[in-house]
Amino acid sequence: MPIITESKSAAVVIDEAKCIAEKGCTVCVDVCPLDILAIDEGRRKAYMKYDECWYCMPCEADCPTGAVKVNIPYLLR
Ligand code: SF4
Ligand code: SF4
Repeated sequence: MPIITESKSAAVVIDEAKCIAEKGCTVCVDVCPLDILAIDEGRRKAYMKYDECWYCMPCEADCPTGAVKVNIPYLLR
């Protein structure tokens, strides 16, 4: 079986079409224990500010619109 050693995309991807941060939502930012998510003040959308993730999942689970997708590395599944 081939070994996958690198992920193809960022750990956390925000679907900006679904994100309602411009309406005041900060749920994913608030639940992240590492404080790696933030709201872009210009676009008014959530984004991954620091590339450091524990894959603990509350950001994806708690987002009211399903905008957060956490890409768990293959080797951690
Ligand atoms: S929880 Fe979802 S809708 Fe709210 S700011 Fe985060 S990505 Fe956007
Ligand atoms: S999976 Fe956990 S550490 Fe990673 S962004 Fe979401 S809440 Fe933060």
